[in-house]
Amino acid sequence: MNSNRTNNAPKAKVKRIGKPPYVIDRSKLHRFNSKNTVFDRVMWDSSWKGYKQMYDEKVIDIIANGKPGYSRVDFALAHASWIVHDAFEGGFSWKKIKLYGTPAATIGIDWTKTKHEIDDPCKMSTFTKRAANLFGASLVGICKLNRDWLYADVDIPEKFENVIVMAVEMDADGIATSPAAPAAAATGAGYSKMAFILAGMGEFIRNLGYEAIQCGNDTALSIPLAIDAGLGQLGRNGLLITPQYGPRVRLCKIFTDLPLGPDKPIEFGVKEFCEECKLCAQQCKAVAISMDNEPNFQATCRSNNPGALKWYVDVERCYLYWCQNGMDCSTCIKVCPYNIASARKAKVTPKEFWNVF
Ligand code: SF4
Ligand code: SF4
Repeated sequence: MNSNRTNNAPKAKVKRIGKPPYVIDRSKLHRFNSKNTVFDRVMWDSSWKGYKQMYDEKVIDIIANGKPGYSRVDFALAHASWIVHDAFEGGFSWKKIKLYGTPAATIGIDWTKTKHEIDDPCKMSTFTKRAANLFGASLVGICKLNRDWLYADVDIPEKFENVIVMAVEMDADGIATSPAAPAAAATGAGYSKMAFILAGMGEFIRNLGYEAIQCGNDTALSIPLAIDAGLGQLGRNGLLITPQYGPRVRLCKIFTDLPLGPDKPIEFGVKEFCEECKLCAQQCKAVAISMDNEPNFQATCRSNNPGALKWYVDVERCYLYWCQNGMDCSTCIKVCPYNIASARKAKVTPKEFWNVF
C-alpha cells in the first residue's frame, strides 16, 4: 500500500469517455443467473457453508454480549430501516401502482391512455433527472440497455431500451460505525428510500403514457448499468465508486420505453488508485477482497459473474462474516478513501453516532 496516497483523498478528475471503462472477455461472459446470488443460495445450495444460515440468527446472543453498537436500540434501528423497502410493494412495481382500497382507474385522469409526444429525448432526460432528484435520488444517469446485464432467468420486452440508474447516498456517520448496527441502518434506509424514489419515478413515466419497470437489486446487475450510465467506475471492493460519494451509495434502476438521450460513461482513475490502495482488502474481516496488484478474469466463487476484468470479491466469505456479525457490514465502504473524501468523519463510534456523551 502507498500510505501517502491513501491518507489523502483521491482527486477525482472526471472525464467523459466514449465507451464504458471495463474490459470484457466475450468467451467467458454469460448472463448471470439470479439463483446464484449468495442470498438465493442460502435457500437452495446445500453444497456451501452458508446454506440455511440467516444472518440475524445470533442477534439475541449478540445483544446479550453488550458490545457498543450491538444493543437492542441499535438493532431496533437497523431492522426498522428496511420497513419501506420490505413492506411497500409499489416500490418495485412493473405496472401502474394500485392505490390502497380503490382501483386506480376510477380516480382522476387515466394518463396511460395516450403518450406524451417527445421530439427531444435529451430534453426528456433533463426532466427525468430533475424528477429523480426531487424524489430523493442523489445521482442519476441514463444508458441504453446492454442486455448482457439482465439476469439470465429474467426477460423484458425489447421496447425497454432505456435505463434510468439512480444512486442513493447512505448516511455517512452511520456507515462510519461499520461493522456496528448503525451502518446496517444506513444501508436499510438507503433501500427504503430507493422504494420511494422508484415508485415516484415509475408513476411519473406512466403518467406520460410510457412503461416503467422499477427495480432494486432484482432483474439485472446494477453496477455495470450504473457504469454504462456514467455514475462511476468499479472498485477493488466490487462496488461502484462514484466521484461524489465513493462507494457510499445504493443503486436502483428503471427500465423504460420513454425516449431518452443517454449519458456518456466516466473515468477518473479508480483502477489505478485501487491497484495501490488496497485498504478495503486490508480491513475486511472476512478476507474476502483480493490483495492482487492487478485485476483478472477469475471468479472466486459461484456467486461471481466471470468474464469482466476486475478484482473478484469472495461473497461467500463476506456473507459468512455477516452471519457472525448478526447483520451486514459496510467496512469496505467506510474505509475507502473515495468515501472518506465525502464523509464528515472517517470513523464514528456508536456512542458518537447516537450523540451520547
Ligand atoms: S462487506 Fe465487510 S465482509 Fe463483506 S467484503 Fe466488505 S468489508 Fe468484507
Ligand atoms: S475500493 Fe478499496 S482499493 Fe479501491 S480506493 Fe476504495 S478502499 Fe482503496
